[in-house]
Amino acid sequence: MIQLIRGFKDILPGEVELWQEIERISRELFETFGFKEIRIPIMENTELFARSIGEHTDIVEKEMYTFPDRKGDLITLRPEATASVVRSYIQHKMYAVDPVRKFYTIGPMFRRERPQKGRYRQFYQINAEVIGVDAPYVDAQLIFILATLLDRLKISDVAVHINSLGCPECRPAFRKALTALLEDKKEDLCADCLRRSSTNPLRVLDCKVPACREAMADAPPLLDYLCDGCANHFASVQRTLNGLGVPFVIDKQLVRGLDYYTRTTFEIQTGALGAQSAVAGGGRYDGLIKMLDGPDMPAIGFAIGFDRLVEIVGLKQVDFEKTPRLFIAALGEDCAEKAFDWVCRLGLAGIHAEMDMAVRSLKSQMKQADRSRAAFVLIIGESELASGNAILRNMRTKAQSPIAIDANTVKNVIAHIRPHAT
Ligand code: AMP
Repeated sequence: MIQLIRGFKDILPGEVELWQEIERISRELFETFGFKEIRIPIMENTELFARSIGEHTDIVEKEMYTFPDRKGDLITLRPEATASVVRSYIQHKMYAVDPVRKFYTIGPMFRRERPQKGRYRQFYQINAEVIGVDAPYVDAQLIFILATLLDRLKISDVAVHINSLGCPECRPAFRKALTALLEDKKEDLCADCLRRSSTNPLRVLDCKVPACREAMADAPPLLDYLCDGCANHFASVQRTLNGLGVPFVIDKQLVRGLDYYTRTTFEIQTGALGAQSAVAGGGRYDGLIKMLDGPDMPAIGFAIGFDRLVEIVGLKQVDFEKTPRLFIAALGEDCAEKAFDWVCRLGLAGIHAEMDMAVRSLKSQMKQADRSRAAFVLIIGESELASGNAILRNMRTKAQSPIAIDANTVKNVIAHIRPHAT
């Protein structure tokens, strides 16, 4: 039997309703705040990710699905969305019409990580990006939108962690102090962090290996090194979040390891997911658009782990399961023909009706009706056909009413089974 690829998964009917509901709530929230949907391709030229995410990151070094296409060009299944959104913004010169753009996008990402609970090789993200605004208001607003979304999804046990990464002006001094510390702690670091110490020292701060975390507990807070501009920006973000009533903690070990990440960085963490505690992460990337040959534009965004949201969401899945409104139990080919016509015409009217197209026994059809959890069953057999009335049964109250079999049957059924009729 052919099985799916390790780290990939199916989202089956019965689960997918919850995904749809989360997506609906997210879209509604984004649209309220003026975000427009953008759909970007699943594959890009490898160079886009190598340049934007950075050569010395776990994603680019170890996790990308990269392969030559039939002409030998290197292409990659997208491991994240920001790079493509920025590429699209630059490629279509969106800045020429209006440099300020707010985007959201929802879709699958691919990283060849070690599969485990909460960590998949194809996973889904909900992304939001704001390009063209450097005001701290927008940083606070994105965090506010995230907190609001989690609240609407009835997710509790979450904490907003924030930090500031400074800018190319103030970060070199921090990097120097950090590099000195890493030299001192060389013995305690894991092999990855030893390598990172020279290639990407900031990344050592968020290594999850306990010995590295312990060694980094002594790291100087980046916040102590911020220039006046960055310090003021971070203070404004905090003031605005306080004003909006969004609680947060300052987390000096929250970093992103690349130079184009600037200033505010944030993560939503939860105790409900075990080792994979991050539900969402984001931050400013003021240097990225210029680095990808676009104009010098500030930008900020976040990515929510959709799979992880689904695991901790407080909404009850069963609330969204879609069941047919009506099951038509029809006996004999003459009745089945009528039933089939009604099923199709009810569908046109937006009402989900089912029938047994194999036209089995009444007993078997009633079992099918029960299994389908239809709210109503319409029964039509030889005797109903002869009497001119089908029987409509409300499956909850068990009340039955006759429905005339004539040109108006569908209309009559609809009048009886509209939601207020239950
Ligand atoms: P990142 O793009 O690495 O900042 O990730 C943003 C969010 O995506 C994380 O906070 C996770 O919730 C989610 N995420 C990242 N990698 C995975 C994965 N392999 N499987 C499931 N969710 C993931």
